[in-house]
Amino acid sequence: MNLRHAGIGMTSPRTRARLIERLRAEGIVDETVLAAMNEVPRHIFIDEALASRAYDDVSLPIGHGQTISQPYIVARMTEVLRNGKQLNRVLEIGTGCGYQAAVLSKVAKEVYSVERIQPLYERARKTLRELKIFNVNLRYADGTTGMPDAAPYDGIIMTCAAPALSAELREQLSPGGRMVLPMGTQEQFLYLIERDENGFRESRLEAVRFVPLMMGKT
Ligand code: SAH
Repeated sequence: MNLRHAGIGMTSPRTRARLIERLRAEGIVDETVLAAMNEVPRHIFIDEALASRAYDDVSLPIGHGQTISQPYIVARMTEVLRNGKQLNRVLEIGTGCGYQAAVLSKVAKEVYSVERIQPLYERARKTLRELKIFNVNLRYADGTTGMPDAAPYDGIIMTCAAPALSAELREQLSPGGRMVLPMGTQEQFLYLIERDENGFRESRLEAVRFVPLMMGKT
């Protein structure tokens, strides 16, 4: 066990438990999601220099102009995606450091996650392996149009904001499936897309701030 895993000081289980209480106070009610958030050590996903802030409810830089999402947003999106049910196959667009993927790995049977920035993809792969999370499949690719070869998914989550939802991505949702994503340019909102036999239903949730979806690999 190295120091990163030792759980001392500001990264201790007690500190993490305080975050869970905060998420509860902010309105997260799904106990499965709260348990998953409690299980995943967020400090392992960020730079050691920032580790003391790992369990604050804030987004933090992860390099390459990207961020690890705020814990509340990770919990909220996971809760909306789950809708109180066990998830089978989930797609995430925007792996970043892999934190959201790790949380998803605790509530879904298999997770596919795609990232367009190679060093982030590689770092996430290393971190997930270190945490012995083996049900997350990472891919280095442009995820703008999803990952059709593993479709359909009963859950799709996008952790970067697009101006609009592409039809191609929407089609990768299975009937009864749910998709949660931020949309908008100046002003962004979280949206829930539900698919049933008759088509798609869209609902707008709260205001959010995500990094933008970008085209191509880098
Ligand atoms: N899921 C992360 C959040 C990462 S920030 C977490 O757990 O904290 C969003 C990520 O989306 C960035 O790493 C960014 O590089 C990635 N991204 C942006 N456009 C993308 C695209 N077209 N395909 C795949 N990933 C993309």
